[in-house]
Amino acid sequence: MTPDRITAARSAMRERGIDALVVSVGSDLPYLAGYRAMPLERITALVVPESGDAVLFVPELEASRVSTSVEVSSWTETEDPFGLIADALPATGTIAVGDQMWASFLIAIQERLPGARFVDAEPMMASLRIVKDASEIAALRAAGHAADTVADHLGEVRFSGRTEQELSRIVADLLLASGHDSVSFAIVASGPNGASPHHEATGRVVEPGDAVVVDFGGRMRGYGSDTTRMYVVGEPPRGFVDAYRVLEAAQDAAVRSVRPGVGAASIDAAARTIIENAGYGEAFIHRTGHGIGLDAHEQPYIVAGNETAIEAGMAFSIEPGIYLPGRWGMRIEDIVVATTDGVERLNRSSRSLRVVE
Ligand code: ZN
Ligand code: ZN
Ligand code: ZN
Repeated sequence: MTPDRITAARSAMRERGIDALVVSVGSDLPYLAGYRAMPLERITALVVPESGDAVLFVPELEASRVSTSVEVSSWTETEDPFGLIADALPATGTIAVGDQMWASFLIAIQERLPGARFVDAEPMMASLRIVKDASEIAALRAAGHAADTVADHLGEVRFSGRTEQELSRIVADLLLASGHDSVSFAIVASGPNGASPHHEATGRVVEPGDAVVVDFGGRMRGYGSDTTRMYVVGEPPRGFVDAYRVLEAAQDAAVRSVRPGVGAASIDAAARTIIENAGYGEAFIHRTGHGIGLDAHEQPYIVAGNETAIEAGMAFSIEPGIYLPGRWGMRIEDIVVATTDGVERLNRSSRSLRVVE
């Protein structure tokens, strides 16, 4: 799998006039080399020259953990890794750098190569990573279905009397129990806190009448899940159910608008128009979605102005929301993947408002 990806990276480099690619911390490295570097001060970096072998430089003490199809070169504690990496790069010409490489790494490499030009590798790497292959879609599907079991189990949990933090821990435990390898986030935003889309769980005690936004995701086999479901403790707040019907319709319309050739912006518009027409336009304060893969947020972004045409294999969230400050918030989020003739939802748990105790 990875040798093909390096071949694809090379042809993208040629198209863009890039002489070498260097990636480190972040998801470009596992994409190309099948290995995710620990975010350590000791650099791990993959160098892909336009011609010649790709080499993965790793600290010697990490070398035993590395399993990759590319050539590995380990550096010892007393060696200068930046010198070794610089030697593998062209002294002049254009070097594309992974967008999540630490600034300290990049500066150390730049100091050793004053004649080279450094550019952001993100546009090129995104063009490669944006369309998922069958193995990536299978991993996203497995993560999505595991997340669905969390949403279902949570419907049986008592919310009232528990703090957001306690509920967040329950969500995290359920994610791990569902087969996720790690938890990325477990947002529990109750009552008025729901109006803040990225609310951090607090000590607020959930009480009857609260609507609760639960947005959670983790990593499974390297790929992310990300889903949002709504829970209400007993009787929902006034006006909530009517707004929820609007949100369900908006989310569904956006999902059903997905097919190859459609612009990302028009998927956003499919959800937004319904919410605007119902009078909640000002309350939908974020884009409709984001791509997902090795990163929790990546291209394509489902947002006004993004004319990227959807292709089969692109995976992204559809997550419209309505937020009324001081009162409540609501969001419904599924991960979908565009297919050759339409769309597959990777989350299948019920999107209905769940009444809990
Ligand atoms: Zn978000
Ligand atoms: Zn989310
Ligand atoms: Zn999301």
